[in-house]
Amino acid sequence: MSLDTNGNPLLEMTGLPPFSAIRPEHVSPAIEHLLSQGRENVARLLDQAAAPTWGNLMEPLEAIEHRINRVWSPVTHLQAVADNAPLREAYNACLPRLSAYHTELAQNERLYRACRRIAEGEEYGRLGVAERKIIDNTLRDFRLSGVDLPPEQRRRFKAISEELSSLKNRFQQNLLDATQSWKKHITDEARLEGLPDSTRALARQSAEREGLDGWVFTLDLPSYMPVMSYAGDRELRREVYEAYVTRASDHGPGGGRWDNTPVMEDILRLRHETARLVGFDNYAQYSLARKMARETDEVLDFLRDLALRSKPMAERELAAVQDHARTHGGPHPLEAWDVPYYSEQLRRHAYAFSQEDLRPYFPVPQVLAGMFEVVRRLFGLEVQACGDMDVWHPDVRYFEIRGPAGEPRGSFYLDLYARPHKRGGAWMGQCIGRIKTSCGVTQPVAFLSCNFAPPLGDDPSLLTHREVTTLFHEFGHGLHHMLTRIDYPSVAGISGVAWDAVELPSQFMENWCWEREALNLFAGHHRHGAPLPEELFMKMRAARNFQAGMQMVRQLEFALFDFRLYLEYDPAQGARIQSLLDEVREEVAVARPPEFNRFAHGFWHIFGSGYAAGYYSYKWAEVLSSDAFGRFEETGLFDRETSQRFLHTILEQGGSRDATDLFVEFRGRQPRIDALLRHSGVAP
Ligand SMILES: [Zn+2]
Repeated sequence: MSLDTNGNPLLEMTGLPPFSAIRPEHVSPAIEHLLSQGRENVARLLDQAAAPTWGNLMEPLEAIEHRINRVWSPVTHLQAVADNAPLREAYNACLPRLSAYHTELAQNERLYRACRRIAEGEEYGRLGVAERKIIDNTLRDFRLSGVDLPPEQRRRFKAISEELSSLKNRFQQNLLDATQSWKKHITDEARLEGLPDSTRALARQSAEREGLDGWVFTLDLPSYMPVMSYAGDRELRREVYEAYVTRASDHGPGGGRWDNTPVMEDILRLRHETARLVGFDNYAQYSLARKMARETDEVLDFLRDLALRSKPMAERELAAVQDHARTHGGPHPLEAWDVPYYSEQLRRHAYAFSQEDLRPYFPVPQVLAGMFEVVRRLFGLEVQACGDMDVWHPDVRYFEIRGPAGEPRGSFYLDLYARPHKRGGAWMGQCIGRIKTSCGVTQPVAFLSCNFAPPLGDDPSLLTHREVTTLFHEFGHGLHHMLTRIDYPSVAGISGVAWDAVELPSQFMENWCWEREALNLFAGHHRHGAPLPEELFMKMRAARNFQAGMQMVRQLEFALFDFRLYLEYDPAQGARIQSLLDEVREEVAVARPPEFNRFAHGFWHIFGSGYAAGYYSYKWAEVLSSDAFGRFEETGLFDRETSQRFLHTILEQGGSRDATDLFVEFRGRQPRIDALLRHSGVAP
């Protein structure tokens, strides 16, 4: 082992990762080395003669995990932003080893007993809140992974976990295969009427790739969405719609070939059994054990109340689309494949404005300077670029954040532009987490990644308003990670924050992109510097809530369906997937999809990913972020007292305390839904 690790930059780094020196062949030996070191250290901690304490067990465990993450985070990041075959291979080879290591820890009975001794001992009462929270979280996770079950049931728990992970994978695979199997080949250009040039170019490219004439449309979102919104050819829309909403089901063009029905039934059955094994009535309760919401009724009431309030608005919006279609020679009644198309027509008609009109006012250098100015005014922080850093691509920049007295708070890598071998989308990733050891404090470091169009020639990259909002959103996650004052990485920054509260700082930051006072700090024409014209600003604001009611009830339909599916699962009846979906639609939806619609079969959030009985989290966090911003609306957008309080009670605390307690400390009361209703136009 030691031969492999000598001269391995991943193991020798002390400060920031040496990106230019990291090679794929360094990855596996480094991870092997760290994991075996981790195993030895955990065993040594458990073998010591002294009774377990915070200082001789829990604190060293934090450091062991920190050491692994410090190496693994930059590797994960490189794999996402500078992918190549050898690196991906090395990365994939490490995944099962890391997962085995963490499963081992989660199933380590001796560790569980030692941790319990601390929790039940007299030391516990003397510990700080963060320390107690870590112990509580650890015990909770031990119980949720079945560690204190009798041997027979424990074996069953483990077997179910393994089966579930392969079922999740199968669900995703079926969906992917079904999505990729379908194509629509068109040679008659007249059928493309209404489609934007970019969509045509994409379809042309797909055709060329297959050696075909004309255009090929697929079910990938960049192809599917524009067809639904812009294609004037109704039959084309219907055909594409049907193929999309029946993916991986018993219906539609691929009918039965990648049918997810049995996979979904098995997932529901096994998750229910998991929950029952560790003492819950159902999987919805199990899911809430790690969330901010306490009771299943709390979630149901929340979703239903919101549905009741927004449905009339959604109905009015749908009626407006129907009216628009009728007066402009459209079909009657409108079918599911007509609604997005006529909505887009109505949007253009009503607002005469597009995202493109705003671009000239959002050049990247100004937007960045403005965003940093916003956090300077809010939190008294200075953000400064540092040159000459070791990065993975020349576009990447590195920034440091300092407090009012010049003290370092954290730093981040900013990687804004799309390029080959970089994953799509926008995200914040952790590079280094904050930790305090006998050697001092390690400051947190973040990765902020976006996929904006790169600058052309000497002109700066110009962003749409939506992209500006995305940047503020990710910076919000970044601030949460970087401004933390918590010394233990497992509850510092975004770590250990309840899933339904983690979007609070990010969605909160988005609000500044909609306020004149903040926009004045950075929105200016890239040629002549003129500020964003009032007329354009008003149009942008007016269009903000276009069809907000319809979007709201759609999200509520997904959330309610997901939650009730897991809450009401009854082994005697099996999964009632389609009938439950129909029931939920009856209750909250305004536009009824056709009978053949098999939405659930493509709902990867809850079957193929971690959102099971947790899709409601999106709306839940929106209540928090809207309500938090509501306080700034009351006291002033840059009110120092309010922003300092937000900094100290939310951003600095990470997951060290219960999300509800932190919110109440900031707001002075429990969260209320009013601000969300107001911001989304549901209430005046
Ligand atoms: Zn987010």
